[in-house]
Amino acid sequence: MLKIDNLSLAYGSRIAVDRASLTVGAGECVALVGANGAGKSTLLKAVVGIQKSFGGSIQYEGRDVTGWTPEEAVRGGAILCPEGRHLFPEMSVRDNLLLGATRLTLTKAQISEKLDEIETLFPVVRERWSQLAGTLSGGEQQMVALGRALMSRPKLLILDEPSLGLAPLLVERVFEIVVTIMKSGCAVLIAEQNVQSALGVAHRAYVMEAGRIVKSGPAAKLRTDPALLSAFIGIDEVS
Ligand code: ATP
Repeated sequence: MLKIDNLSLAYGSRIAVDRASLTVGAGECVALVGANGAGKSTLLKAVVGIQKSFGGSIQYEGRDVTGWTPEEAVRGGAILCPEGRHLFPEMSVRDNLLLGATRLTLTKAQISEKLDEIETLFPVVRERWSQLAGTLSGGEQQMVALGRALMSRPKLLILDEPSLGLAPLLVERVFEIVVTIMKSGCAVLIAEQNVQSALGVAHRAYVMEAGRIVKSGPAAKLRTDPALLSAFIGIDEVS
């Protein structure tokens, strides 16, 4: 589904991602974990064409998409749910959701079917259909951001810190939703600082440190990796 090969990105002269390689298989959930500033968001933005790389390549569904535009990524089904949600606060929940479908050529019936699915998945969204997105709680906003991403009919859903700033119960709910999305056959690439939860749902994981991928393997194995656990003490609930 996705093959990133030796990808490098920089902000000016500062290298943020240094020759990173990773793959995501069809229907697979892959976690990208690492501390603040490790380069996770930069790498994810590159996958959907928001950030331009200066070296390496990105293949998606078997074709080279290095340098594609965000519009091309959306049309191809590679959808980013960004860190911080980035909803439009002065627009209603429904309008924010509809934005997820604007770059696709969907019929009214397809849009309404998609909205129905999202209502079922996120009952809280249904209750607040016409409320302004900016007046929702953090957790509710995260559900709308996930819903908006699903409106784009992802084949590869890229989630950047979906649990950031949420209460523990909501964190659990977010990861339950990730599992539901995976079960629908959508591949998921998820960047998280909540390492234990991310490794709990992912099949495989990559560890990023100072722009580089320093470790990878089956999530279940990394979950008990002593070096990884000690590295994340203080930013994750390691028991
Ligand atoms: P976090 O979890 O805190 O978002 P991250 O692992 O996602 O961290 P990035 O946001 O990708 O890390 O940041 C990687 C590096 O690039 C950091 O050193 C950061 O300061 C830098 N950086 C990120 N965005 C910009 C920007 N727009 N301009 C300049 N430097 C940036």
